[in-house]
Amino acid sequence: MELENAVVIVTGASSGIGEATARAFAKRGAKVALAARREERLAAIQKEITEAGGTALSVVTDVTKRESVEALVKKTEAELGPVDVLVNNAGIMPLSFLENLHLDEWERMVDVNVKGVLFGVGAVLPSMMERKRGHVVNVSSVAGRRLFPSGAVYCATKFAVTALSEGMRSELSKKYGIRTTAIEPGAVATELPNTITDEAVRRKSSAFDDMRMLESEDIAKAVLYAVEQPDHVDVSEILVMPSDQAS
Ligand code: NDP
Repeated sequence: MELENAVVIVTGASSGIGEATARAFAKRGAKVALAARREERLAAIQKEITEAGGTALSVVTDVTKRESVEALVKKTEAELGPVDVLVNNAGIMPLSFLENLHLDEWERMVDVNVKGVLFGVGAVLPSMMERKRGHVVNVSSVAGRRLFPSGAVYCATKFAVTALSEGMRSELSKKYGIRTTAIEPGAVATELPNTITDEAVRRKSSAFDDMRMLESEDIAKAVLYAVEQPDHVDVSEILVMPSDQAS
């Protein structure tokens, strides 16, 4: 898809991968709707994009609430035009060992990482099907392919995102011309681990401590690569690992 003037929604655009992806789209001339809960962060990013000559809209959104995601899409359509690209990126990763029974966090992960993605898909599909045009990028993870200790529920949510992406590709690509990409990053240096509260996980020395992690911009490049392919090319899955990350 041609990125110039494309209308792009990025969820979780207030930090990390979402922020970098939104900035990268804007730099390429796309009109970007920035969605997340932290209003000030969104406003600051929007200001920087606009001052650099780009077009950005910031929409405070909680992806766990269906009405909030529907309102995001409506506002984007009204102010920027029909949505060409949705990047379902918002996610949380409060890792914990099952035996510690962090049930509230399990529920929250399902709400943000799975239901949030579904609400986004449901909100953009009607218009994309009608226009027979669109691209949905779901940010899954290497955790959507394999398990790791303390990651049972997080991995379950990301396996769900990878499975959903494949289902979308098979049901929507040929019939409606809607492309779907699952992006599966390895370790990226972001705020994501801040949501971990399980002391047992926090105490465990991380294999990532001495490793060069990916930057958010590395993932943004993968997203743009998938979206800017010509119509006959559906990049359905991209696994991006740090060279230093063995598993
Ligand atoms: P960040 O914590 O920097 O970004 C997460 C984003 O999600 C924030 O913008 C946050 O914004 C948003 N978010 C969280 N909850 C909600 C909500 N209820 N409604 C709307 N937005 C929400 O981490 P990353 O950039 O690393 O994470 C982005 C995605 O990448 C996630 O899906 C994550 O699982 C995935 N990923 C990350 C990897 C990594 O190593 N960092 C590896 C593989 C995948 P706000 O708090 O303002 O709402």
